[in-house]
Amino acid sequence: MLELRDVARAFPVRDALGRSKGAVRAVDGVSLSVPRGSVLAIVGESGCGKSTLGRLALRLIEPDSGSILFEGEDLRSLSAAALRARRRDMQLIFQDPFASLDPRMTVEQAVAEPLRLHGIVPRAKERDRVAELLSRVGLRPELARRWPHEFSGGQRQRIAIARALASGPKLIVGDEPVSALDVSVQAQVINLLQDLIRELGLTFVLISHDLGVVRHIADRVAVMYLGRIVEEGPAAEVFGNPKHPYTRALLAAVPGQGRGAAALLEGDVPSPINPPSGCRFRTRCPHAEAICAEQVPPLADHGHRAACHLQHQLPPAIARHERDAG
Ligand code: SF4
Ligand code: MG
Repeated sequence: MLELRDVARAFPVRDALGRSKGAVRAVDGVSLSVPRGSVLAIVGESGCGKSTLGRLALRLIEPDSGSILFEGEDLRSLSAAALRARRRDMQLIFQDPFASLDPRMTVEQAVAEPLRLHGIVPRAKERDRVAELLSRVGLRPELARRWPHEFSGGQRQRIAIARALASGPKLIVGDEPVSALDVSVQAQVINLLQDLIRELGLTFVLISHDLGVVRHIADRVAVMYLGRIVEEGPAAEVFGNPKHPYTRALLAAVPGQGRGAAALLEGDVPSPINPPSGCRFRTRCPHAEAICAEQVPPLADHGHRAACHLQHQLPPAIARHERDAG
């Protein structure tokens, strides 16, 4: 469904006087494929490039290099008109449901807007279609005449999801779709997304720093660090047998799961303007050796892959279930 090949995007950085201070390589040579009907989670600390990657995947921002194939078609080669037509197939759900809905539009107007934009249903059928979409996300259709401020965060996120579904998308990118919500509401919205993915056969890219959420919903997991994928594979394998020291540290940092990340990770994330040579994780890696500074660790094309020179000689990770039991 979606394939990224060696995608890169940098953003120029300027000081207060407007002088160039170099560039942040937010996404630096990422290759990924997301099969139809599957859920890929992209995880990592804030600033690792995961939101940029999500926007590149939808071509909401342009890559500097690399290609992005959607149903086998290179999005970069599409004309503006063809891309506009393609937009109905790809939607983004934002983190903040308070910001993503226009306060001057009723729920009905907000959900009907994409229907109109893409000519999905005739005007006479609009109201019915909005009602259907609202019930699909667990909201009573009578709520259509109300305004966004009359709803709770969870309900607003449901409205935003209804709006994203209106154009009949095949691919949805959710950028931290539940992290602004109360913990008690997060599970409900995640369960809703999971049902929709299954029932509508959606392909979903979930951007999240919350490994509990990811574990619940993802088929595959990609772990990012400083603009690169350091590990990627089937969720059960990445969680059950993490190969990369960074993934292991992230998993160990899940609340209630052993030591915190601080105990495992020394120092701060290095500047993305001037990342470390070789393995970018080496300044915080407890296993780093000379080769780690000299050579960029390669990442395989398929399977459960990790970019670490020493992955075959590290001690085995403690499996999550063993830790839970202990
Ligand atoms: Fe650590 Fe070296 Fe592996 Fe990087 S390549 S994660 S520094 S052991
Ligand atoms: Mg982000």
